[in-house]
Amino acid sequence: MKIGTPLSRSKLSALLLGGGELGKEVVIELQRLGVETIVADRYANSPAMQVAHRSHVLNMLDADALRGVIELEKPDYVIPEIEAIATDVLVELESDDICMVPTARAARLTMNREGIRRLAAEELGIATSPYRFASSEQEYLAAVADIGVPCVVKPVMSSSGKGQSTVKDVDQALEAWEYARAGARGEADRVIVEGFVDFEYEITLLTVQHTGGVSFCEPIGHRQEGGDYQESWQPQPMRPTARKECERIAGVVTEALGGYGLFGVEFFIRGDDVYFSEVSPRPHDTGMVTMISQDLSEFALHARAILGLPVPVIRQYGPSASAVVLAHGDSDALAFDHLEAALAEPDTAIRLFGKPEVRGERRMGVVLARSREIDGARTKAKRGAAAIQVIAD
Ligand code: AMP
Repeated sequence: MKIGTPLSRSKLSALLLGGGELGKEVVIELQRLGVETIVADRYANSPAMQVAHRSHVLNMLDADALRGVIELEKPDYVIPEIEAIATDVLVELESDDICMVPTARAARLTMNREGIRRLAAEELGIATSPYRFASSEQEYLAAVADIGVPCVVKPVMSSSGKGQSTVKDVDQALEAWEYARAGARGEADRVIVEGFVDFEYEITLLTVQHTGGVSFCEPIGHRQEGGDYQESWQPQPMRPTARKECERIAGVVTEALGGYGLFGVEFFIRGDDVYFSEVSPRPHDTGMVTMISQDLSEFALHARAILGLPVPVIRQYGPSASAVVLAHGDSDALAFDHLEAALAEPDTAIRLFGKPEVRGERRMGVVLARSREIDGARTKAKRGAAAIQVIAD
């Protein structure tokens, strides 16, 4: 593996599609290895743009605009950081000269809940919650009747819990339908109706496909509110049978998607029963804890795997946690006060993403902590996040 000099004719370059907080860390890891980095996102000054060599502002669901930027930059690697991309363009332009990370097929199948769910459950025979898809009110009501309540309704294209709700009573079904349609991203008006899994806990299993084979990080436990992550911790204690089964499934799913990179594979766990939920062919928000819990964070692992560099070992440093810093209000000049309180305790760290504005609620940072016990790490991270005062003027 050979890497040249950024901004010279020997450069090795990577174009990130999406430049949020996860992309920012991927860019930093690529920069450390001397890769030329370019970021595309729908708005200027996105977090990853602030650390990249250059950037482009475009709507990545616009096939012509996306093709234009890839043809202009001719990067060695195209690294999707978000799902909402005109993935047909990635399929069209994938070649020996341009590597789509991990593969164009993986990006296409995971941009939409339907692609990955059908691959996992119907082609690979993996256990998931029962599910139906619906595109009309009539189909939807039939799906709810079929699956029964409680069930979870989600737009097939959405993130951060947007448009997602749980129907506990058939009387609420239409409300969830309207909510899902309002929260959908992209053109898809379709929803998935999933049987509610009464899980004990849920995990993200970070799985790395690299030139030397497949590696797994210690499982990450997390807590979600309204479909959006609030805190995560590592390692999540698991019974050996359940853990083995998660690793088996994660191996099968990521191999089916193909290519090199880090994947976030999500599972619901009850006793020894595990249900595959979904997979991101890229770093996962709950995996931000690895910035304090591992020698190679999920971002460093992604960069290594993509570039075909070895991952001989992943060192886990012990009980660790992350807690999100949220902003509320309307501002294009947020400020974060009392940071010293968040960092006063040993084994803590802060990441502030540098997002240029907030409208409503937005994740702006994360506090990381290590301790002797999981509970101690979680408490410390949450205490740190709560100490930070977000000022929206
Ligand atoms: P998702 O966007 O599909 O990852 O869903 C976000 C969160 O909602 C998950 O991490 C779970 O906490 C919860 N959730 C999603 N689907 C289900 C389900 N079928 N049963 C129970 N909880 C769910």
